[in-house]
Amino acid sequence: MNKQKTQNTQKDWESICSKCAQCCYEKIDFEGHIYYTEIPCEFLDLETKLCRVYADRDTKRPGCVHLTDENIKKGFLPADCPYVADIEGYPAPSMPDDDGPDDC
Ligand code: SF4
Repeated sequence: MNKQKTQNTQKDWESICSKCAQCCYEKIDFEGHIYYTEIPCEFLDLETKLCRVYADRDTKRPGCVHLTDENIKKGFLPADCPYVADIEGYPAPSMPDDDGPDDC
């Protein structure tokens, strides 16, 4: 991880985010691997791709994860997210449009 990311402030985090909203889709953790679904968070505005309750998300959506230098390494952000794009060996989640195993 580069120096910029290890010293991130909340403002730094927000400036890195490309506002793609991919991380605002429901996920399933199966045996430690994250699988994205096509179900958006109920508070995601699908047109603007912004959270409609961002300032109050801790109360309206308990469990909404705040990004930290440590927890971004756990594999819940998409591989092309700027936060994790340069993390070597990042355990990228499976996305809905990923090909399944060949024997399915
Ligand atoms: S996936 Fe990454 S770039 Fe996209 S909205 Fe989430 S934090 Fe921002």
